[in-house]
Amino acid sequence: MSVRVRFAPSPTGPLHIGGVRTALYNYLFAKKNNGKFILRIEDTDQTRFVEGAEEYILEALKWLGISPDEGQQIGGDLGPYKQSERKTLYKQYIQELLEKDKAYYAFDTPDELGAIRKEYEARKEVFSYDAISRKKMNNSLNLTTEEVKEKIEKGVPYVIRFKMPENEDVLMKDLVRGTIKVNTSTLDDKVLFKSDGLPTYHFANIVDDHLMEITHVIRGEEWLPSLPLHVMLYRAFDWNTPEFAHLALILKPTGKGKLSKRDGIEGGFPIFPLTYGESIGYKEEGYFPEAVVNMLALLGWNPGTEQEFFSLDELVKVFDLNKVSKSGARFSKDKAVWFNHHYLQEHTSEDLLAEYKTLVDSRFEDTILLKIINLVKERANFVKDLVEQSQFFFETPTQYAEKAYKKAWKEGTSDLMVELKKVIEGTEDFAVDSVQVSVKEWIKSKEIGFGKVMQPLRLALVGDMKGPDLFEIMNILGKDETIKRIENIINYK
Ligand code: GLU
Repeated sequence: MSVRVRFAPSPTGPLHIGGVRTALYNYLFAKKNNGKFILRIEDTDQTRFVEGAEEYILEALKWLGISPDEGQQIGGDLGPYKQSERKTLYKQYIQELLEKDKAYYAFDTPDELGAIRKEYEARKEVFSYDAISRKKMNNSLNLTTEEVKEKIEKGVPYVIRFKMPENEDVLMKDLVRGTIKVNTSTLDDKVLFKSDGLPTYHFANIVDDHLMEITHVIRGEEWLPSLPLHVMLYRAFDWNTPEFAHLALILKPTGKGKLSKRDGIEGGFPIFPLTYGESIGYKEEGYFPEAVVNMLALLGWNPGTEQEFFSLDELVKVFDLNKVSKSGARFSKDKAVWFNHHYLQEHTSEDLLAEYKTLVDSRFEDTILLKIINLVKERANFVKDLVEQSQFFFETPTQYAEKAYKKAWKEGTSDLMVELKKVIEGTEDFAVDSVQVSVKEWIKSKEIGFGKVMQPLRLALVGDMKGPDLFEIMNILGKDETIKRIENIINYK
């Protein structure tokens, strides 16, 4: 049987990176096993529906390169892939459960339920609609067939509940957590169909997984408590149960609790793949999709080797559900930036040029811009860092970092700079090596330390004690601009 997995987000807003990781692990598992990765939109909860969320999810997956093989807006043989378009199917399947006496109609009004909850509270107990309490409630188990029929015909509102079997041990296997045992007496009779005539998440989810021939359900651990109900539903239908793998949470940088939007705001890192409202996304913050994929892959899975850099294709080759961690993985902004640094270095300067050009106001030709990118790239984590670190090429410094100036500008520096200017003026060929030879020979002939000249020269050209090799800088600036900057610092103050 070929592997089929699905990512089943609800369109209730943007995708949290925890959700992105779930999608990624599904994708990797499918590809590793020559299977199919399916995108299903779970929109049965109309009250939480958010316009545009579906498009956001598709865009985000596309940007990351995690493309579904089948699914909403993609197509496939087992659609529709959006639950709101599958309503008639759910009706048909709930009918089957009702006929098999595995589900029942419940007519209890909100007021009745409220009253009984209060009664329990007064006894310091918690009400649960279950195998015991169902016997006293207003449901089809306690009414005659005629009474039920009459109520339905009259339009009395009802829900349909699952008739959870009493006192059965359920053994479940989770590929991440191993065997889990639960007794059905601890479970309640969950609502499968709501009074609005729509199925609940649980019911639609298992019907769809069955009809879409899903072999492995890989999802977040927040769904682990629903697993016994899902397994019992499969049994009620006499369907084969898929394999399950519940992924541990991505944790806050402190390691305590689930990573939230607030952590992103406080820690200065994105929580969503793409910008959503006021929340800036990984893409817009300047992260490469390869960096996000690599970082997320390692948040909860480890290859069992020292290797840390993986392309999506390499991940497909080595991904293994058995190596997914049982405990939560702590998010680290430094690590995210570190991955981006790596992928920035992997990109050629030619790759980076187009974006760089949109961010600098430049009079330089592409060949020069490429040289500039090459010079500053090593220290950059993002394309925007390239811009910041190369700003001095485009703007003549008008001020100098104060501390650095005090340190570099001594008695006699001004005279030295006047002489240096002459040396540079006399250098006919302005290639990096030629300027270097003339300046260095002149310094040697003066029998002074290099720093005495190079430090004020750096200040003159860059405005601060930072930046790449000075001879490279001079070569790019050209003779006239170099001389102009030396004159500026001589005349400063
Ligand atoms: N619609 C659920 C969600 O939003 C899917 C859970 C599952 O994968 O079963 O996460």
